[in-house]
Amino acid sequence: MRTVTVPSGERVPALGLGTWKMGERASEHAAEVTALKLGLDLGFGLIDTAEMYGEGGAEEIVAEAIAGRRDSVFIVSKVYPHNASRKGAIAACERSLRRLKTGTIDMYLLHWRGSIPLAETVQAFERLKAQGKIRHWGMSNLDTDEIDELQSVPQGAGCACDQVIYHLGQRGIEWSLMDKCRNLKMPIMAYSPLGQGGILRNAVLRRIADKHAVAPAAVAIAWTLRRDHVISIPKASRADHVRENAKAESLRLDADDLSELDAAFPPPKDKQPLSII
Ligand code: NAP
Repeated sequence: MRTVTVPSGERVPALGLGTWKMGERASEHAAEVTALKLGLDLGFGLIDTAEMYGEGGAEEIVAEAIAGRRDSVFIVSKVYPHNASRKGAIAACERSLRRLKTGTIDMYLLHWRGSIPLAETVQAFERLKAQGKIRHWGMSNLDTDEIDELQSVPQGAGCACDQVIYHLGQRGIEWSLMDKCRNLKMPIMAYSPLGQGGILRNAVLRRIADKHAVAPAAVAIAWTLRRDHVISIPKASRADHVRENAKAESLRLDADDLSELDAAFPPPKDKQPLSII
């Protein structure tokens, strides 16, 4: 299994399963649990969820999928910004733990920045860590200057990752955030690595996929994983999609592939504000 090192030195799976839009419809429940279980069977070692997804429904789907194999899955969940206060984050985490039917969340993130000071959220995260309710904490949707700001708050250097949008069609973080995080030995967790499906019809991507006898999605995911400090979390509710995406684990893109993809999906030419969806 491909892994990425977090600041504590622990190695964390580089390929994970997203869960946004899961847990919203009872009619999809069984298929979603099946898709996550299949992903775990095929070697995805991490699941990304959030209290926001299905207003807790996605965490309940995850609980079913990891039943009987909790110890072999790295679970990431996130707190809403409006719950990320000194007391609110503790209560939100306890609700997530109950829905996930587990005693600890491996990585707990602030979903995006709201009005509660980062220092207060960090204090709550450190308390949760001391209590053993979470093992690592991190941030989501923080841009380069906000990562700097975080380093200056008490215990802010304990941040273990920044989860941000990153896919072929959205390469803005390559300008400065990527190196900033690398220098801090903090992984980037790439969300929407398939551009929510929107990039998969590109002719160059399809040609490279044909060359490697995989689906375009596998190429798109493998591209995000070409850097050794990136975790990628594609979401798939369909079993055929999960199978296609699992092929990214062993796919290595060559120099020709990478330069063709650079031409089709150019890297940033200047600093843009971080995109958030
Ligand atoms: P994504 O993973 O880029 O794309 C998901 C879409 O692609 C779904 O419609 C899925 O369809 C489709 N798909 C999956 N595999 C495919 C394949 N092999 N071929 C064709 N289509 C395929 O988008 P995302 O869900 O926005 O991002 C992934 C995860 O990142 C989320 O689920 C969530 O966990 C996390 N995220 C975090 C934030 C944040 O603010 N921190 C924001 C966005 C996302 P099916 O589901 O029908 O299979």
